[in-house]
Amino acid sequence: MTDLKRLIRDVADFPRPGIVFRDIAPLLRSHFGATIEAMSGLLSAAEWGQIDAVAGIESRGFMLGSALAFRHGKGFVPIRKQGKLPPPVVAIPYQLEYGEGVLEMQQGSGRVLLVDDVLATGGTLQAAAELCVLAGYQVDFLAVLIDLNLVQDFRWKGSPARTVIKY
Ligand code: AMP
Repeated sequence: MTDLKRLIRDVADFPRPGIVFRDIAPLLRSHFGATIEAMSGLLSAAEWGQIDAVAGIESRGFMLGSALAFRHGKGFVPIRKQGKLPPPVVAIPYQLEYGEGVLEMQQGSGRVLLVDDVLATGGTLQAAAELCVLAGYQVDFLAVLIDLNLVQDFRWKGSPARTVIKY
């Protein structure tokens, strides 16, 4: 199997001094299918059968989450940064490795898999999971492509974040 980690580009001091940005653009350009297959394998067939939709976090969570949703015949639900979705929306503030902001989502129902590209402090994933619940969804699983290993054993309400590439 291809070493997907080798295809991630490290960019020092981006977007802020002191941050090593893990750029997945080269990985998506050359191994998008293999990346989606690797993330698919984070859930068993029975677990995929259990969920109704994939909720992806803007914007790299859209690239991964929408492909996963298509691959498994599921719906896709966007979680967006403030001001992008038309009302009515529910909102939650969040903090991430290099900033803070507000995430928004439209109300809905069903069981979702929550997807993002990178787990750093876990602030984004935690806020997004809470937002899903506020919006009316049930979060059954969390899947992230890259775990930067900044937090030990990240869990949301007992559920671990399943990850493909670990640092
Ligand atoms: P956090 O909330 O600290 O876990 O940060 C995760 C979110 O911020 C994800 O949506 C990532 O896209 C982004 N992120 C945080 N740190 C990095 C990093 N070092 N490289 C690339 N993306 C990052």
